[in-house]
Amino acid sequence: MIILGGGLLGSATAMHLAARGVTSIAILDVDLGGRYSSSELNAGGVRATWRSEMNVALALPSIEFFESVKDEIAFDQKGYLWMYDEARWPGALEAMAWQNQHHQLGVQALDPTQLAAHCPYLDTLDGVAGATFSPKDGLLNPNLVKELYRREARRLCGSGLRLENYAYVAGIDLDPDKVTVRVLKFQEFSPAGDAAIKAILCDAMPPDDAAVLNVVGDIVINCTGAWARRVAPMYGHAVPVRPVRRQIAIAHAPEVDLRPYGMFVDTSGVYFHRESTHILAGWADPAEPTDYRFSYDGPGWFEEHIWPALAGRMSKCARMKHRSGWSGLYEYTPDLCGIIGFAPGHERVIEAFGFTGRGAMQSWAAGRAAAELATARRFETVDCTPLRPTRFADGQPVKESLLI
Ligand SMILES: Cc1cc2nc3c(=O)[nH]c(=O)nc-3n(C[C@H](O)[C@H](O)[C@H](O)COP(=O)(O)OP(=O)(O)OC[C@H]3O[C@@H](n4cnc5c(N)ncnc54)[C@H](O)[C@@H]3O)c2cc1C
Repeated sequence: MIILGGGLLGSATAMHLAARGVTSIAILDVDLGGRYSSSELNAGGVRATWRSEMNVALALPSIEFFESVKDEIAFDQKGYLWMYDEARWPGALEAMAWQNQHHQLGVQALDPTQLAAHCPYLDTLDGVAGATFSPKDGLLNPNLVKELYRREARRLCGSGLRLENYAYVAGIDLDPDKVTVRVLKFQEFSPAGDAAIKAILCDAMPPDDAAVLNVVGDIVINCTGAWARRVAPMYGHAVPVRPVRRQIAIAHAPEVDLRPYGMFVDTSGVYFHRESTHILAGWADPAEPTDYRFSYDGPGWFEEHIWPALAGRMSKCARMKHRSGWSGLYEYTPDLCGIIGFAPGHERVIEAFGFTGRGAMQSWAAGRAAAELATARRFETVDCTPLRPTRFADGQPVKESLLI
């Protein structure tokens, strides 16, 4: 089996394939280190508190797995504290009742007084009607998760696991009895290598001096995340996955210690959590265009969007200082939910991408679903049929309304 892309989805799929007895697995990636992959550049949030059955169904078993390896992946299960304004609070209470009744998530509603008692740093609660606290949710280190998936795949598959680095997938030939992936294999020489990888991933500029390599298998699983839009046309499928830049800032606020808490989501849409001795904060700019962009707008962006939200909630953040930041790609689909299923008209191509900001937290179960399709040709545990690639053409989007 051939997996395109070695991020969290590709690595989880490899692990599950190996667990199901597949003895030959190749993961092909431009950069297995993943320096521009979403799996490397995300915020590490994990939550079961979704509003659609499908998203809970993928998050919950993933969380159970993360709990079982919590020390290995730094899973810090201290919940999400999600603040709502007056307009959105009734919907939050309704969702909470559903989550608790159907999935026993133990979500609690906090009024502003209870919220301030829960986290005394939150001392300016103007515009906050209430908050939900979801104790099963938390934070993890996505890089450790990816390494664990790959390690397990290696343990289970041994030398049958082939990790092909600096391998740019340039074409896919489908025959009735096999798939041939045409790869441009290049050398990475740092620091020029970084420029080469960036040129490939941002500008779709094939590498110079590459050797052509044909990788042959029975099934190909496309896990190229935000790049699925470029890779899927190689087998004739135009997929509605949009790459959109998302920025994250790291700030130092010496008077604020958020270590006892998990993820915070403010009414402004700014989310934040502790990151070692610092604070990590992000915000989605609605005007951000569809593009493969990795620039970070720096202190100006922080001063304009992050500082006002945090200092406006926590007076002790007033003297907070910008330290650094980065950007990565969200992989938006039209209904903001992942895609898992056979590519239309192809029995040898499986698609598993477009997780729109939740690929880390759903990776374990989504990888399992992709591995089930590849080996049993049907979903055996969680029925992911609602995530099939054809749902948009069928007019049957998944309804999910709680996105950061
Ligand atoms: C700022 C930010 C914050 C986020 N926060 C969270 C969060 O808190 N929780 C959460 O669960 N999710 C979060 N996400 C989303 C999450 O990171 C992604 O959904 C997830 O990492 C997607 O994994 P993937 O394996 O599908 O894609 P990726 O990790 O992007 O992997 C795709 C791989 O495909 C490779 N590739 C692409 N094209 C080719 C080609 N032609 N040939 C060979 N290889 C190729 C790339 O090099 C890459 O390694 C966030 C994302 C961002 C950007």
